[in-house]
Amino acid sequence: MARPKRLAVIGLDSATIDFIERFAQEGRLPNLARLMERGLRTETISVMPVGTAENWRTIVTGAYAGTHGVTAMSLGRRGDPLEKRRSAFFSDNCRAEHLWEVAEKAGKKSLLLKYTGSWPPTTPGITQVDGFGDPEWNIHEISPRLCFASYPLASNPPHVTSPQWISRAYEVRIAPASGWSNLPASDLPPLETALRFIPRTYDAKGPTEYSGKEKVFSVAIIGDRERGYQAAIFSEDKDAANPRSVALPLGRWSDWTEAVFELPEGQRTGLFRLKLIELSPDGSRLKIYLSQIFPTTGWTQPAPLAEELVAKIGPYQELSGILGPWLSYWVDEDTILEEVEYQAHWLAAAARYLLQNKEWDLFFTQWHGIDHMDHGFLGGIDPFSNTYDPDREALCWHIIEKTYEQADLIVGAVLDSVGDDTLVVLTSDHGHLPVRANLRMGLSLGIKESYHRDDVNEQLARHGLLAFQDGPYGFPVVDWSKTKACVTRANYVEINLKGREPHGIVEPAEYEEVRNQVIKILDAMQDPETGDHIMTWTMKKEEARFLGIYGDGVGDIVFFAKAEYSRPHQDKLRFRMLSGNHHFYLPDVKFDLGMMHAVTIFAGPGIKSGVKREQPINMVDIAPTAASLLGLPAPANSEGRVLMDLLAEPPAAGKALGGDERQVAT
Ligand SMILES: [Zn+2]
Repeated sequence: MARPKRLAVIGLDSATIDFIERFAQEGRLPNLARLMERGLRTETISVMPVGTAENWRTIVTGAYAGTHGVTAMSLGRRGDPLEKRRSAFFSDNCRAEHLWEVAEKAGKKSLLLKYTGSWPPTTPGITQVDGFGDPEWNIHEISPRLCFASYPLASNPPHVTSPQWISRAYEVRIAPASGWSNLPASDLPPLETALRFIPRTYDAKGPTEYSGKEKVFSVAIIGDRERGYQAAIFSEDKDAANPRSVALPLGRWSDWTEAVFELPEGQRTGLFRLKLIELSPDGSRLKIYLSQIFPTTGWTQPAPLAEELVAKIGPYQELSGILGPWLSYWVDEDTILEEVEYQAHWLAAAARYLLQNKEWDLFFTQWHGIDHMDHGFLGGIDPFSNTYDPDREALCWHIIEKTYEQADLIVGAVLDSVGDDTLVVLTSDHGHLPVRANLRMGLSLGIKESYHRDDVNEQLARHGLLAFQDGPYGFPVVDWSKTKACVTRANYVEINLKGREPHGIVEPAEYEEVRNQVIKILDAMQDPETGDHIMTWTMKKEEARFLGIYGDGVGDIVFFAKAEYSRPHQDKLRFRMLSGNHHFYLPDVKFDLGMMHAVTIFAGPGIKSGVKREQPINMVDIAPTAASLLGLPAPANSEGRVLMDLLAEPPAAGKALGGDERQVAT
């Protein structure tokens, strides 16, 4: 039987089989169509909790969340206060062996192109590009996206997995220009404004203090009497002829430029571009959007690869935090879609370049575009969603379609660059559901963080188990001195247990009683309009082991909500609403326009072609199956099984799928 010699894993966060089939039939996804034709496609049951950090680890280890240790999007450490959580995306959170480590022992070389949750690199032998992957922030970035306006704007709400709060929208003043040289002719008196912000930085363990040195850029505003002010020039030294100064045409991106930033670890060069979003003809109203500022080095192994990729392909940008500028009304959908497209093109080009020019046996990449856009816009296409607006439906469809089309470019780049000897595994980590919450108040179970008065925490507060106090930036925070139970992350309620938590107030003797009380409160939660119960399942953590949820990183109580109930209503004046979600639910739910099942497509030597598997596979099956097909042992902590039915011809008895007798398929 033909046996694959190499492996290419293409990760598309949040992709579903329904959308892939639908858009492929419409002719939008030529590359995914050819992959489906060549291979076997199947729905896939995610591990629980159904989050990104958890499942991308499972895909490359074959282990359940409790086994690999990544049990939520953020993790606490014993002794840290409950509100202090570390991003689960650091690779050292994973306790299970990765496929690339198994491969390395067998003398095979791995290439990781932004495979989420894999930074810092776990072994020195792999070639790696970025791979931090937290959807909210990136460890390498010099600055997240920023906005400067002549009037007040909302800043992104704080997020539990991201570094400490930093205001990211700044109000600027406009004044007559002075001290500029080489400005183009303007028959209106030039105006100017200053863009000031503090870059941030992180050490290897996570965010450090808000400690970069303030950076100041200048912007000159020019125009003519006929049309008024209608263009701007960005410069660090007020010299418009400096090659690093760039024109800001209204409504379009500037060219890329660079600047040197003073960070605690020293000087770093960062690349970025800007977009003049708004400029009133009288020069009184201005809004400028600044892209993420990403350094030119520090995000690859080996180190010189970063500069090589920037030179060959262009500036690298991560999509982390991409929805924030849209949620905060800084920019419209077109701007973030342009950023999504930019990154997809970059990744596609990088995949081609690396696969064709570097040595590799195993390749892994992951793209987050679909997940971001689903969170933002999936409800916009579903008439049953409380975020649905018929006037926006076409726009939301356009965004979802365009994003899948971008994913298809990445798939095409990989398919074009690997040979017939390669096993291609395209997979997502979970599906996505449109927010339904058909309650005007928008009942919320999306308890991302303690800063928001979301409904579970609100319920706990009503029953005297949780107390809020006023916090900075207008968001309430938890008063731990009066709090016995709180949701701070994932679908967990944490008990503020004395002796375990630094601000613990629940006596060990009272622990069971408090847990029983919390479960009663959760079980009693009802939709005020229909009377339906909101929770589908609540349990103590020790009862969730059979779901793969166990260990230190799990909260004291685990809950799953019915999929109809979702994300928080937000303060609509300051923030737009998210409209898709996948956390908090069991992994088998399906709506007309949303499904929780992930998708996997296997294609390559010996694999059935053009087939759809009737039953879903389990996420834990992917790694042991891929390993077996390559003739490698399964990763050490793998709990999945080898899927023999993928093969066009069953292997001879006693032989592993790849013909390797060391490991017998079971
Ligand atoms: Zn995800």
